[in-house]
Amino acid sequence: MNPEFLEKLRAIVGPSHVLISEEERLQYGRDWTRTPGISGAVALPKSTQEVSAVLKLCSDFKIPVIPSGGRTGLAGAITATDRDLALNLSRLNRIDPVDTLGRTVRVQAGVTTQALHEHCEKEGLTWPIDLAAKGTSEIGGNLSTNAGGVRVIRYGMARRWVSAIQAVLVSGEVIELNQGLEKNNTGYDLLQLLIGSEGTLAVITEATLKLCPPPIHSRVFLFSIRDYESLNYVYEKVRSAPFTLTSFEFFSDKCLKQVESKLGRKCKLEKRGALLALIDVEVGPYSQEKDKMDQWLSDLLDSGRIEDGLAADSSSDQTEAWGLREGITESLQVSGLVRKYDLCVPVKLCADFLKEAEALYSKIQIQSELFVFGHYGDGSPHLNFLNSKGLSPEEFHSEINRFEKALYPLLKTFHGSVSAEHGVGVLKKNWVVYSRTPAELSLYQAIKRAFDPNGLLNPGKIIDFSISS
Ligand SMILES: Cc1cc2nc3c(=O)[nH]c(=O)nc-3n(C[C@H](O)[C@H](O)[C@H](O)COP(=O)(O)OP(=O)(O)OC[C@H]3O[C@@H](n4cnc5c(N)ncnc54)[C@H](O)[C@@H]3O)c2cc1C
Repeated sequence: MNPEFLEKLRAIVGPSHVLISEEERLQYGRDWTRTPGISGAVALPKSTQEVSAVLKLCSDFKIPVIPSGGRTGLAGAITATDRDLALNLSRLNRIDPVDTLGRTVRVQAGVTTQALHEHCEKEGLTWPIDLAAKGTSEIGGNLSTNAGGVRVIRYGMARRWVSAIQAVLVSGEVIELNQGLEKNNTGYDLLQLLIGSEGTLAVITEATLKLCPPPIHSRVFLFSIRDYESLNYVYEKVRSAPFTLTSFEFFSDKCLKQVESKLGRKCKLEKRGALLALIDVEVGPYSQEKDKMDQWLSDLLDSGRIEDGLAADSSSDQTEAWGLREGITESLQVSGLVRKYDLCVPVKLCADFLKEAEALYSKIQIQSELFVFGHYGDGSPHLNFLNSKGLSPEEFHSEINRFEKALYPLLKTFHGSVSAEHGVGVLKKNWVVYSRTPAELSLYQAIKRAFDPNGLLNPGKIIDFSISS
């Protein structure tokens, strides 16, 4: 990288916060998917003012900037080249006291999702976005990807839980969006535009997040289930049940075996079907509500659709049950190269889609193992392919590409989306046309030009923007 640029960068963030070793440039040049990338240098600013000065410097030197947080992304959205500066926000980690009256909290972008949860818990409140990566993912990343997670049925996605954003434009100008107001119908909502924009429009430095009380009592059910018909049957029963549903997750028995063998976790169910459903519900404090739930459970068990099941009431049993579902991504990660698909279809068609996708996998016969799991209640399954046959990376990707060419047209017939919650990054950008119309994509181009006329912010992500200069 240009030595003059690096010298000025060191003057802004301090010499020890500019990293240039190959190992560090690799570490900050790729996300959890290990999509190959290496940045030219890494900057670790500590304040909004430093972010602003770095962006102005990058604009002056025409250096592309890749903003990042916890680097747990699953779309290759921080993949860098050696011409780029990786701008990591993790040192911006201040959390203000909770505003208990307004039920909000102001945080900097580098606060981890879990640190935020722990901070708010002391006030009896929570930010209800919950995902298995919460120990490492950061608020800036959660907002820039519009993270979903395991409680979307109940609380929606990250964009519902934000009332202000501070961001820095590529010119270095700092903008404050919405000022924490609950209502603000004064034209276009730029705050919402930044959410899910994957670092391509501006760098988020702070946010005011909305909070809510966590459920007082919850119950978790883990059911072993024979097939997709029965899974759908259970989902219908849960939807019409006399309690509030927080999560309806599913995973194949193959995923469970992977978690058991790679992470050493144990499932207490004795009789195993092809699928598992993990259901988290809120229960009121009154005994008649518990009685109604017990009756519902007994009817469900009598239906013949459940192979085996358990109800977890204590927090340790619930954590153990959730550990089986939340360990899947990690159990695959430690097993080798993985290709991930995070899809969304209308929830009523989810079972049909999964059956057809699995039939396609059997028909095409690619050399890799398929692991199916995800957020069934959101119509959002994850299809993961593991390179368990020891192919070279090139052979493995070419095998998966054969499947991908058939998968996305199938998804289109279900009116689905190529990304439910992980975003587009570089991994899905060739397929955005399956989810967005030409009219939408030409508006994307105009929006990008308005925010980032020289195309310096996270280039090559979401789509290939045509920049006029
Ligand atoms: C085990 C595991 C489980 C997961 N489960 C879920 C899940 O259930 N639901 C879900 O939605 N995701 C899930 N993810 C994906 C990932 O955790 C989320 O996408 C998360 O929101 C990314 O946050 P991050 O801080 O790691 O962002 P990064 O990976 O660092 O960055 C992601 C994107 O955000 C941009 N970005 C980051 N910070 C900023 C900023 N301050 N300003 C502007 N742009 C920025 C980056 O440029 C990039 O485009 C999971 C990942 C793992 C590893």
